[in-house]
Amino acid sequence: MQLNQLKIFHEQAFIAGKWCDAQNQQSTAIINPATMQIIGHVPNMGKAEAEIAIQAAKQAYPEWKAKTAKERSIILKKWNDLLLEHLDELAFILTSEQGKPLSEAQGEIRYAASFVEWFAEEAKRTYGDVIPSPDSDAQIIVTKQPIGIVAAITPWNFPAAMITRKVAPALAAGCPCIVKPAPETPFTALAMLDLAIQAGVPAEIFSVITGDAIQIGDAFFESNDVRKLTFTGSTPVGKLLLEKSAKTMKKVSLELGGNAPFIIFNDANIDAAVEGALAAKFRNAGQTCVCVNRFLVQAGVYDQFIAKFKERIQKFSVGSGLEPIHDIGPLINKNAISKVKAHIQDAVEKGAKLIVGGKGHCLGELFFEPTLIIDVTTEMDVATQETFGPLAAIFKFEDEKQALEMANATEFGLASYCYTNDLGRAWRMSQQLEYGMVGINKGLISNEVSPFGGIKSSGLGREGSKYGIEDYMEIKYTMFGGLK
Ligand code: ADP
Repeated sequence: MQLNQLKIFHEQAFIAGKWCDAQNQQSTAIINPATMQIIGHVPNMGKAEAEIAIQAAKQAYPEWKAKTAKERSIILKKWNDLLLEHLDELAFILTSEQGKPLSEAQGEIRYAASFVEWFAEEAKRTYGDVIPSPDSDAQIIVTKQPIGIVAAITPWNFPAAMITRKVAPALAAGCPCIVKPAPETPFTALAMLDLAIQAGVPAEIFSVITGDAIQIGDAFFESNDVRKLTFTGSTPVGKLLLEKSAKTMKKVSLELGGNAPFIIFNDANIDAAVEGALAAKFRNAGQTCVCVNRFLVQAGVYDQFIAKFKERIQKFSVGSGLEPIHDIGPLINKNAISKVKAHIQDAVEKGAKLIVGGKGHCLGELFFEPTLIIDVTTEMDVATQETFGPLAAIFKFEDEKQALEMANATEFGLASYCYTNDLGRAWRMSQQLEYGMVGINKGLISNEVSPFGGIKSSGLGREGSKYGIEDYMEIKYTMFGGLK
């Protein structure tokens, strides 16, 4: 497959219903992290183009809002079908710009499409309420209305799914949506937009704008017409954008960093825990916000778990995601590599033992060996900071109370995992882990039907599930009086 021969590969942004270059005619090169080769360019747009997209969305909004839920649902279903029909092309674009193995990219496209299918269905279920009235001459009705123009700012680690998880509920609810994709991975977003327009989404209703994050962001934040910000990315940027959203009082959804614990008790099925651990740690080379950051292993199974986990980590094949034999692709950039190295160095200096890996891979500067360190303690940086790379760090604990204290000793609260065969303990952990999501005897917990999101510094709001569309709607209460 050749990128420039794919009809859905675009080197222009799509704003106000048209494929466009930047007004300043400047563009930015996008690289393949596996080869460091330039794979294409996208326009370097700014505030002016973002304002044009907002104005176009404002004009088109009343017609989109006025469509019936079923009409919007039919268009979204068609978009879902087109995403699946173009699965191989989209996965190829995704791996070319992001690096993950092609099989994972295909999985991500299916996952991305599942949100479109799900919200096509949910569009028809945005029910309101009738509330028994305290006044005998009145009736109380609650309805849901689309919130208005949605600005979506998305990350590079899931270039497809992080778009549909936001755009699909926005469109389903009746909102226009303007996406600013991550600067590293614009092509997947542009390709998916092409298919949405082919499916019948009115062109002005959905824009993808590439370029200067701060300038584009500021156009969103200053606009009273943009009523909602949905962001996935780092916690510091999320906090900044929350502050900036205050000026025009936008509704805000934030899906931010994590520091996921993966707790293995003596009574766990260790083979199942190893399988779950591999998936929950090394998917996307450890670059997901639900990736395990801390393995907490009870003393009685500590050596056994490490021996089995080590054996499997050593079998991983590292290489370009476009070559189907590899399990782990490159990291996204040099900063990502530096962070993994720094966490390893800090831990080893403070007494952790390096068991597998530990250094850059000979394949190239963005490849890193899958790494296992043990005897990690709470004084080490990896205890409190998200590594976002292929480093598995193992801590030892003695009892349930200590495990829970260690697990909750973080500012973050996104995903957590626990392996145990004791039903009472499983329930206690599910209730006492201070996280938005808990996987009991499960290492992969993300899907379109469940509410994804975090507490504490991991964010605000939920994506996917029956709750996901609520973030794109306002609740309206009407009292009808004088009814006697
Ligand atoms: P990462 O470090 O993983 O790239 P970031 O939080 O920096 O995560 O970026 C996530 C998204 O937020 C990207 O699309 C990026 O361009 C965007 N972004 C970063 N800073 C700002 C900002 N000040 N205003 C608007 N968007 C921003």
